[in-house]
Amino acid sequence: MGHAVGTLKAIQSTDPEVFAAIRAEEKRQRDKLVLIASENYASPAVLAAQGSLMTNKYAEGYSGRRYYGGCEHVDTVEDLAIGRAKQLFGCEHVNVQPHSGSTANMAAYLSVLKPGDTILGMALSQGGHLTHGSKVNFSGKLFQSYSYGLNPETELIDYDAVQRAAEECRPRMLVVGASAYSRIIDFARCKQIADSVGAYLLVDIAHISGLVATGLHPSPVPYADFVTTTTHKTLRGPRAGMVMCKEEHAKAVDKIVFPGLQGGPLMHVIAAKAIAFQEALAPEFKVYQQNILDNAKALANGFTERGYHVVSGGTDTHLFLMNLTSKGVTGKDAESALETAGIILNKNAVPNDERPPAITSGVRIGTPVVTTRGMGLREMSQIVAWIDEVLQQSDKRRVHRRIAKEVKALCSRFPIFQTSQ
Ligand SMILES: *Cc1c(COP(=O)(O)O)cnc(C)c1O
Repeated sequence: MGHAVGTLKAIQSTDPEVFAAIRAEEKRQRDKLVLIASENYASPAVLAAQGSLMTNKYAEGYSGRRYYGGCEHVDTVEDLAIGRAKQLFGCEHVNVQPHSGSTANMAAYLSVLKPGDTILGMALSQGGHLTHGSKVNFSGKLFQSYSYGLNPETELIDYDAVQRAAEECRPRMLVVGASAYSRIIDFARCKQIADSVGAYLLVDIAHISGLVATGLHPSPVPYADFVTTTTHKTLRGPRAGMVMCKEEHAKAVDKIVFPGLQGGPLMHVIAAKAIAFQEALAPEFKVYQQNILDNAKALANGFTERGYHVVSGGTDTHLFLMNLTSKGVTGKDAESALETAGIILNKNAVPNDERPPAITSGVRIGTPVVTTRGMGLREMSQIVAWIDEVLQQSDKRRVHRRIAKEVKALCSRFPIFQTSQ
């Protein structure tokens, strides 16, 4: 005791092993160039809230109707988070308690569906998410799941094919949204398709919620019965999720989140959500999201100019996939060579990939983290040059190590907030 709340010094004296790992992770985040599209670096205020003593409070239930005493201050933060989320997305109702994006999706499904019902979602192998009906996930085990994908020529979502698939499988819920799709999604069209077969529409904006919040990607909120999101990707909040819905589903959503799926909410994380939503409401956040988009476009254009195959022909978002087949390197080898060079990204299946998911033929590239650090177009063109050099010489460790030093020098010019206190 005696340390300020949430300081790392408190860990140093009680658990040197965990302390060392946190310090090493801090160094890794500082010195490496992170292009993982689903990651971001949260603000000091968001981190501080997550390290706060709100973690000590049990608060099962909802604001003003809890199953524990002493909830007046956690009620304040949950009310703030709800009010700000509504302002940010213009939704009728929101539940900010889901612990993750996956739990948010589980809640949206189970609020109106029963096990055995049919869902139709984008295939994982085409850019969808595990929770959209993959057979290895609860969504594919609990529900009768069918999938749709991209047009093989254009690599764009084929809405006519979605319509046909919906007519064939007659889903009770149409699931829209992706983890690896770079183009704007036509939510109005998705709503028409859902309506034509009497299905609920769930739109999962886990990746693009920062863009949606700032109007840089059209919003699904007017169309969808349910809109789910994570709060830690482009939105730049704590690692967690939430469910927005039409008022008619409000009671069902709240009942399934608690007591249906979760026990006590993570009040320290909900406090961090309130802070992140406040940050996202500020005018600077829109500039930041625009910079994320500009940086992603610059990378995609840079690679296209160097003869790389950018899937879907470019990007309207913070991310894109590259199919490396013609470059003679697998996704797995690209990921590992780039990691040696200090550039962190993930291998990713490309549409109709012939290699297994543990190898793949592509990589996914995203710009939230580098943009959070303040990097811009000049740095993007340097990043393209480095990645190209590594991929052209994917077996030359010496080249990779030289680039790692250059990467570290660039990163030191764009410092991240220090957790050392
Ligand atoms: C990341 C993601 C999720 C899951 O979020 P977790 O917090 O990792 O459970 C759900 N849907 C989509 C589309 C995602 O990209």
